[in-house]
Amino acid sequence: MADDDRKILCLACGALNRVPAARALSTAKCGRCAAGLATPEPVALTGEQLAALVAKDTGAFVLDVWAPWCGPCRMMAPHYTSAAFNLSSRVRFFKLDSEQNQAAATHLQIRGVPTLIGWSGGRQVANQPGAQTGPALEAWIRNVFSLTETHNRSHTE
Ligand SMILES: [Zn+2]
Repeated sequence: MADDDRKILCLACGALNRVPAARALSTAKCGRCAAGLATPEPVALTGEQLAALVAKDTGAFVLDVWAPWCGPCRMMAPHYTSAAFNLSSRVRFFKLDSEQNQAAATHLQIRGVPTLIGWSGGRQVANQPGAQTGPALEAWIRNVFSLTETHNRSHTE
């Protein structure tokens, strides 16, 4: 693993923050506006915010591309929220409503919803169509971002 600083985009003010790779995002704050950089709950993005993240941010983040009419999307949503709660010190969790942001969804070449897309180190590292839930969803995210079990939360498997 490289120990380079990550560049983390602040969604509140647009500043790009350098955060050491070893530092948990849960305690990191924006140097310009002091907003927290972690997202303990999934954050709904606009197409413009997503474009800025993809262009500038070199941290780990995952995007749920969904649509209001999509049953599997609604089924996955609470699982995605709980994965965000468990993993937010390492990965930021975002959502994109593909109905409200059709240009952005088209740009991502989404073939269906839901689709989960991961970025790390400034490049796309995963693109997975289909709903995932529960432990399988968290395991997929851990695998995509090479996360090890570094927290104290106990869980049954
Ligand atoms: Zn800020």
